[in-house]
Amino acid sequence: MKVKTRFAPSPTGNLHIGSIRTALYSWLFARHHNGKFVLRIEDTDLVRSELISIDSIFNGLKWLGLNWDEGPYFQTKRLDRYKEVINVMLEKEDAYICVCSCQELEEIRKKQIEKGNKPRYPGTCRNLNIKNISNQNHVIRFKNPLFGKVKFQDKIRGEIVFDNAELDDLVIQRSNGMPTYNFCVVVDDMDMKITHVIRGEDHISNTPRQINILNSLKVKIPVYAHLSMILDEKGNKISKRKNAINIIEYYENGFLPEALLNYIIRLGWSYGDKEIFNISEMKELFNLKSITKSSSTVNFKKLLWMNKYYINNSPLDYVSNCLKNYMEKKNINVEKGPDLELLVKLFRSRHHTLKEITESCRYFYEEINFFNHTVIEKYFTRKNCFILQTCYKKIEKLSIWDNKNISKIINDVSELIKVTKKEISMILRISMTGDVCSPSISTVILLIGKEKALLRINNVVNYIKNL
Ligand code: GLU
Repeated sequence: MKVKTRFAPSPTGNLHIGSIRTALYSWLFARHHNGKFVLRIEDTDLVRSELISIDSIFNGLKWLGLNWDEGPYFQTKRLDRYKEVINVMLEKEDAYICVCSCQELEEIRKKQIEKGNKPRYPGTCRNLNIKNISNQNHVIRFKNPLFGKVKFQDKIRGEIVFDNAELDDLVIQRSNGMPTYNFCVVVDDMDMKITHVIRGEDHISNTPRQINILNSLKVKIPVYAHLSMILDEKGNKISKRKNAINIIEYYENGFLPEALLNYIIRLGWSYGDKEIFNISEMKELFNLKSITKSSSTVNFKKLLWMNKYYINNSPLDYVSNCLKNYMEKKNINVEKGPDLELLVKLFRSRHHTLKEITESCRYFYEEINFFNHTVIEKYFTRKNCFILQTCYKKIEKLSIWDNKNISKIINDVSELIKVTKKEISMILRISMTGDVCSPSISTVILLIGKEKALLRINNVVNYIKNL
């Protein structure tokens, strides 16, 4: 059997970490088995579906490299097919026309609740064999089996059993002619030959209904695996509409896709004590049986740790390329600054994200025209002005522009005018970066380049003189 999984998001909100985990597990399961991964957009809820959510799905999956082999299918483009299946079911009397009015149904519902019973359709039209409906408002219902049980072996939770007596006759086509959610899922899973359905536990109660319809259509029932919830750091369920962070925000915040995927795979799946999984290891080791039944909680600190790990342990050219793309998206002209591989080398051990690196590197690309009050008060002194002027003269004369020679200037100035190297480095650092922290100042000066370095020194000298 060729494994075929699907990711079937409803485009009714942001693609968040929970949806990505469903996509990732489905994708990995397909990849592990050399199978196929299908993308299906479940957009039949016309009121709540949004184009912006569809974009969020495509962009998120593409950024993370979760490529699909088939699709994207859109349910709204398959309406004829759903109609066709409904007609077959009507013909075979697996479905029937129901003309009960909303008012009637509401009254029945109220009575059932008053009696303490679970509200359910009583089957009024089930055996009426209504055919001639002319213009009358009607829905189409599935003839759910009246007796017996629906059982399935959930790959994560073991056997799950529902009593058919608990399930009423599901509406499969609304009075406006639109097929309903559970029905479309069934037809799609059947037509797309899905072998494994990996989805959130909120769908467990849909599963027996879907199995009954699949049985009536005489198709093989897929294997089901229902994933437990993901909770936010406060312990609340992550919900598309309330507290979900759009996956693209992780990009905006400078996370690497591998780091995010590695973090997400561990939200509910484990392989011994192993924490770091590159993509090939994920594909090789992923299985359904090691998925936990309990809920998982996001941990932002762990994600930051993971990202730092990937920034520091991925090949230099790869990280530099990610940084290049990131900076360009932030409108930084990377051509105007130093070689990005050198920058990554210099900064990566200090930072958790590309965003942090970008912020720390801004002074390579932008002029320094702001100094904060404390810096001015503490460092913009006549003594420092003199230090800078002395450095300027030496830097100006420097013919071989390298780290060694720049460090030597700092040493020489220190001996010449009897100030500590620390003091010299600090005022040079402030002149070069506008700030009191940076990597080794000689390296920073080296990367900034002679011309710009001199300009920046001159700027601060003038600034101090004008105070
Ligand atoms: N469209 C559903 C959702 O976004 C998923 C349905 C399924 O996986 O069967 O929650």
